[in-house]
Amino acid sequence: MSYRIGQGIDFHQMVEGRDLWLGGVKIPHNKGCLGHSDADVLLHAICDAMLGSVGLGDIGYHFPDTDMAYKNIDSKVLLRRSYNLVRDKGYWIVNIDSTLLLQEPKIKPYIIQMQDTISRILNLSPNDVSIKATTTEGLSFIGREEGVVATANVLVMKY
Ligand code: MG
Repeated sequence: MSYRIGQGIDFHQMVEGRDLWLGGVKIPHNKGCLGHSDADVLLHAICDAMLGSVGLGDIGYHFPDTDMAYKNIDSKVLLRRSYNLVRDKGYWIVNIDSTLLLQEPKIKPYIIQMQDTISRILNLSPNDVSIKATTTEGLSFIGREEGVVATANVLVMKY
């Protein structure tokens, strides 16, 4: 049995006039993340962690933001494709641990739905997809609600 780990981090600006997608779930808010895709910062961090775990580079390499094919794309599609790349290497996801750093909105009411959405795509139990959140106590661009950050760690296993 062989194990590998991966980590991912992503940043997006928060602006008015965009939908807020986090963990594959659309969250009602007066701002959303700016990006070429739907700018789901949490799914992007998870994609990067999964790709990194098997040494396949990053999300920008596989799904470049200069490619119009990915304009406004649902990041769940990118998550599924990243998962397929991990599976092609012979690995299964064991678990994910992630953290969202944002000031507003409170995401606790949406965490179960995010876990369900992500675990279904990755053939995991929702218990294997940990999603945590923290504010930065009002500090920095996160505290000023100018941006959102997500980090993720992934363990993968090959029999
Ligand atoms: Mg991103």
